[in-house]
Amino acid sequence: MEYSLDPPDWEALRLLGHRMVDDMMEYLSTVRDRKAWKKIPDDALQELQQPMPQGPQKAANVYEDFLHTVLPYNKGNVHPRFWAWVEGGGTPFGMLADMLASGMNANLGIGSHSAVHVERQVLDWSKEMFGFPPSSSGILTSGASMANITAMVVARNNFHASIKQKGLRAVDGQLTVYGSSETHSCAIKGIEVIGIGSENFRKVPVDEKYKVRTEVMRSMIEEDRQKGFIPFCIIGNAGTVNTGAIDDLEELSVIAKAEGLWFHIDGAFGAVPYILPEYKQQLKGLDLADSLSFDYHKWFYMNYEVGCVLIKDAAAHRAAFSTPVNYLMAHERGLSAGPDPLSNYGMELSRGFKALKVWMLLKEHGIKEYAQLVRQNLHQAQYLAGLVKEHKELELLADVPMNIVCYRWNPGDMSNEVLNACNKEILMRLHEEGIAIPSYTLLKDKYAIRVAITNHRSRLEDFAELAAATVRIGHEMARQHVKQPA
Ligand SMILES: *Cc1c(COP(=O)(O)O)cnc(C)c1O
Repeated sequence: MEYSLDPPDWEALRLLGHRMVDDMMEYLSTVRDRKAWKKIPDDALQELQQPMPQGPQKAANVYEDFLHTVLPYNKGNVHPRFWAWVEGGGTPFGMLADMLASGMNANLGIGSHSAVHVERQVLDWSKEMFGFPPSSSGILTSGASMANITAMVVARNNFHASIKQKGLRAVDGQLTVYGSSETHSCAIKGIEVIGIGSENFRKVPVDEKYKVRTEVMRSMIEEDRQKGFIPFCIIGNAGTVNTGAIDDLEELSVIAKAEGLWFHIDGAFGAVPYILPEYKQQLKGLDLADSLSFDYHKWFYMNYEVGCVLIKDAAAHRAAFSTPVNYLMAHERGLSAGPDPLSNYGMELSRGFKALKVWMLLKEHGIKEYAQLVRQNLHQAQYLAGLVKEHKELELLADVPMNIVCYRWNPGDMSNEVLNACNKEILMRLHEEGIAIPSYTLLKDKYAIRVAITNHRSRLEDFAELAAATVRIGHEMARQHVKQPA
């Protein structure tokens, strides 16, 4: 008797699968009725710390474990009042697309099969959306972190032909990268990982709108050159993570050209409004980048995980990641025939079929429906900013150029230190009460409740609820503070 992992009873698994689909549709269609977040209780945590299963159990029983210990304590980013960090909510059709991709179990690293053509199609659409020419290359990644690091490797190797073989010692001096002090930590992590070192990322100061001060960047580059450093790359921000600020991308492109530097743009979420005709002006210069990172799982609301990097110079992209070996040679015919393996454009050889959900969702909604939703989120950000400005106990802590609102409760008679502690407490109670899930940041030493709106389920009333709850909790705290003097 030989074994396989296929079900002994296909019909039973089919029924279980139908139930799973029904349960998830029910879960997603009723998400608004539940709290935005629930702490994992101890007994559920204990269920997640069990010894290694030795023998088999019924699939139906394993599914019960999921229903009781996993699903109820989901992060909450499917909820209409989730606005923490920058996270999308996914869609039911995206979930189904992921199921199909998993069913095919396609591995997109190499080979002549439909899935690689789906990813190539998605990449072509991506180029079109962001004004990159058809001759550009790109690859889908797990997210913008991997997209950024992929672009940085290409930029680094493209700077000097020998770096790929000889490493950084091929360059006679220390390579340096320039970007604003608001640049996302994942880009700096990437700079550390590819051997440049975080000290050699020059944090250029920002202006009062949190945009990079380009004239300071120019002089930093100049100064570095005089000291013998070797500038090779500029990172521009299309939507900073703190406040959604957009650097002057056109000006950064001018500097990069004049200095012979690679120009990369991190547009993880902030590149997306480029699909709106009325927002193109604010993102002017996005298409001038040598490389662009953006996420499909953030402001395109697609199911985790999927991001993308686009690179203008396809040859430089390929050169950075292709390694000819006998067991990966392209053949004339058969499964080993072309197209050019996607593994020549990134770090991974085995790659899942995340392209399928992008392909299916872009078809389902069309670019116009995405534009409408992004527009809706931009409007909601202005609406919340308006509520904050109108309320005498709420204070807006930064401009709102995009979809991020940073504010705090401020009744007017407290020190900054006390305000910071109070607003942190407000945030934790908003979470614990399951009302809404904003996140936080520090802006000029002020603790900000930070609302990043990449949520297709949010409605205006949700933002009104957030503003009201912030003030209510503020008052409750003030009362408690009086009752129990520190
Ligand atoms: C989220 C984010 C990243 C990282 O993207 P992941 O998809 O989480 O890897 C990079 N840059 C900015 C501006 C971001 O908001």
